[in-house]
Formats: sequence, C-alpha cells, structure tokens
Amino acid sequence: MSEHVDVAILGMGPGGEVAASRLLKAGRKVAVIERELIGGECAYWACIPSKTVLRPPEARTEVQRAAGVAGAELDWSATSDYRDYMIRHLDDQGQVDGYAGQGALVIKAEARITGPGRIQAGDRELTAEHIIIATGSDAVIPPLDGLADITAWTNRETYTAKTLPKRAAIIGGSAVGVETATFLSRFGVAVTLIQRGNRLLEREEPRVGELALKHLKDAGVDIRLGTTARSGHRDNDASVLELDDGSRVTVDVVIFATGRTPRSKDLGFETVGVSLGEHGQVQVDEHCQAAENVWAIGDVTGIMPFTHVAKYQGRIAADAILGNPRPATYDGIPRVVFGDPEIAAAGLTKQQADQQGLSTVGTELDLANAIARPWTYEQDPRGFLGLLADADSKTLVGAWAVGPMAGEWIHHASLAIRTKIPIHTLRDQVAQFPTYNEAYQAALDDLDV
Ligand SMILES: Cc1cc2nc3c(=O)[nH]c(=O)nc-3n(C[C@H](O)[C@H](O)[C@H](O)COP(=O)(O)OP(=O)(O)OC[C@H]3O[C@@H](n4cnc5c(N)ncnc54)[C@H](O)[C@@H]3O)c2cc1C
Repeated sequence: MSEHVDVAILGMGPGGEVAASRLLKAGRKVAVIERELIGGECAYWACIPSKTVLRPPEARTEVQRAAGVAGAELDWSATSDYRDYMIRHLDDQGQVDGYAGQGALVIKAEARITGPGRIQAGDRELTAEHIIIATGSDAVIPPLDGLADITAWTNRETYTAKTLPKRAAIIGGSAVGVETATFLSRFGVAVTLIQRGNRLLEREEPRVGELALKHLKDAGVDIRLGTTARSGHRDNDASVLELDDGSRVTVDVVIFATGRTPRSKDLGFETVGVSLGEHGQVQVDEHCQAAENVWAIGDVTGIMPFTHVAKYQGRIAADAILGNPRPATYDGIPRVVFGDPEIAAAGLTKQQADQQGLSTVGTELDLANAIARPWTYEQDPRGFLGLLADADSKTLVGAWAVGPMAGEWIHHASLAIRTKIPIHTLRDQVAQFPTYNEAYQAALDDLDV
C-alpha cells in the first residue's frame, strides 16, 4: 500500500528544508525524505563546520591587528569541540522529531522516482501531487594515477577531522580551496595549494584572485599556480604528489577541492520527463519547474552552488506549488569566500559584462586612502572595493570587496545590482560614519558615469 502526500521532497539539505517548512506552514501534507542527515552537506560537512573553524583564526587576526590588545591563542581541541556541537555530532534526531512534530511524514531512506507522482523510498512507496528534487551535489575527485595509494580527503574528512595533519596539499584554488587553505594554515598546518589555472578564484575578477593570493601567501601557504598533480604514491606514512612541473610535494593528506557534481544519476528522473544538462544538472525553468508537477532546487540544478541560492529556490518552488508563482532571478546574488580577510562579490565581472555587450565603467578603491573605518578597526589596514557600472543604464552591474567583514557589506552592492538602483540615488545614500559601508560613497564618487 502506498502512502499519499501533497508534496514529496527528495533530499533535505537547506533547499529541501526551506521548501518543507514553507509548505508545512501552509498546511500541506509533506513527505521529507533524506538518505543521510537532515540538514544536508551544508549543515554537517560544508558551510557550518567550515565557517565555525575559520572564526577562531579570524578572531586571532583581529587581535593581532588591533592596537592595544594582545594574547589571542588558538586552541584546536576547543575549536573542534565547538565545531562538533555545531554539526550536532552528526546526529539529526532533533530535526527528525522537529519535522514529525510539524506533521511531516519523515522518511530516512534513499529515494528514487518510479513514475509520475510515484516514489520509492527504501521499502516504502509513496504517491505525491508534487515532487521536489533537492538532492544536492557530490564532491568531484578527478582521475589521478595512484589515487588509491594516497590519503585523499574531500570536504567531509577535512571538516570533521579530530586531529589536523601536519602537512596538507589542497588541489583546487576556488572558494573551497581558498577557505580550506586559510583554515589549515592558520592552525599551523604546512599547506601547499595546487591550482591548475593561472590564478585563484578564476570565476571572479583577476584582481580578486591577486588579493586572495597575496593574503594566502602572507599566511604562509605555498601556492603553485598553473600546476597539476600528475600522479600520487605512498612513502611510508606520507602521501607524495608528482606535479607536472617536475616537482614533488610530500604531505600527510591530499585534499580535493576540485568542484561538485549534481546528484542526479540513477534516481529515475527520466521516468517523469526531467532533462539533465551536460554536467548532469537538472534543467529548470524560472519557477524551478523541471517537468509537470516536478520541481528542482539547490545544487542539483547547477545554477549557483550556494546555500542561500538553494534556500531562495526552495521559496520559489514552494510558492509556485502554493499557487503564488514568481520568477527566480539571480542578478546580484552575493558570493563570499570566508578568507582572512573576507572576499566577496556580486553581479558581473568585467569579462561577463563584455560578453553581454555592455558598455561599462569600473573603479577600484583602496579603503585605507578613502575612509576612516579601516584605521579605527586595525593597524596597517587592509581592504579594497571594486565597482562596475553600466554606462548606459547608469546602474551598478558588478562589485567585489576584499577586506574585514566584506561578506556583510557586499549586500549594499547586491541590493543595488538586484534592484537596479540608479547611481545618482546610490550617491545620495548616507552611510553611518565610520563604517566600511562608507567605501561605496567614495567609490561611487570615483565612478565616471
Ligand atoms: C566545504 C564547503 C563549504 C561551503 N560553504 C558554503 C558557504 O559558506 N555558504 C554557502 O552559501 N554555500 C557553501 N557551500 C555550498 C553549500 O554547501 C551548498 O550549496 C548547499 O549545501 C546546497 O544545498 P542543497 O539543499 O542543494 O543540497 P545538499 O546540502 O547537498 O543536500 C542534499 C541532500 O539530499 C540528500 N539526498 C541526495 N540524494 C538523495 C536520495 N536519492 N534520497 C534521499 N536523500 C537524498 C543528501 O543526503 C543531502 O542531505 C559550501 C560547500 C562546501 C563543499
């Protein structure tokens, strides 16, 4: 006998959780189906543990750089205890009880779609008016000769480690690679970062990659740009990587920060007419609809692999199911790398704007030369803000910031880009003195539009 629900949600990461909460609140009968832990990658192995372990080094940097305060010491044992508390000791019983308490049918099992409105979840069969696919993504480990012989970690082992290695090689210089290098190097691990491309954070402005490189080098990270690992082998307890420049790196662990792939294979999606893109991403329309009465949200859509995007799409899909459809737009959504200092961006890079045929004007501001906050905040202040404007519409189309708390103050640009606030209106904004937000005023004054 199958059970019937209004909506079945496959995968309970941040996307699935937001959709479930919205639908439950609206009185729908919802099945929440999760094969591992309710909370998904973000809550246990990604955003939450990584930001938790990056905070003590950040606080220590703040103490080291502020005048008149000293003595901050890092304590890995206390840090990892707090991280374990934050990742609920890899136990989701509280979440299971919480959703059951809200009236959801909670199923802890691997699920697949078996036909229109039909799902097999472990040994249970369900029928549903609507299905939401929220199965997330998996870490990619590219082929490497000798992979089986080395100690290879992904984000999962890295962010649940009880003991830190003495030496680590990180392969990949995008957000996860940069954050992981920041975390480990600040905790005293000798880190070598191997990046195939010629700069870090290749999807951002080249200047952002340059600043990320400088700050990681200052933290003692050995960065090898334009380099790939050719093979690996074991030497007693050590893992050795042979690089294509002829050099060799000997470490305790090799961490793969080499991207993610949508979890979309062998889950029966084709039985309901869902199409996959060339990278296996579920194709969705502007309402996150993937087929008739089938919706997809989060990393599995391959649109923007962030928790805040998964949550946004969860709201979009739930609202469409509830009869209040509104199109999703992705303009100006912030992208933050929690380095030391933080690295943030929103909107287009100059290259993307050129590809769209926009005529743009840009500016870069050294915060220390323009505003007071960096000086009251720390000695030898760090911080830059870049803005990119469309000369025709006279609105911001892109922004980046590297500096303390940049992940907080990038939202000013995010909102301006998303809502197309005219530059003359932005120039009339009055920011609190002395804050990092004042940088926008100074940068907008420099912008020739
Ligand atoms: C190291 C790291 C740090 C990150 N830090 C940040 C950050 O600071 N901020 C940010 O915005 N993003 C960050 N991200 C990205 C973020 O983790 C993802 O974008 C987010 O988790 C996507 O949410 P989701 O709901 O799509 O999928 P997931 O979180 O992957 O959840 C999907 C869930 O579906 C379940 N599932 C899969 N298949 C099935 C099935 N067949 N049946 C039942 N259940 C299934 C999985 O077990 C999983 O629990 C980080 C990623 C990494 C790797």
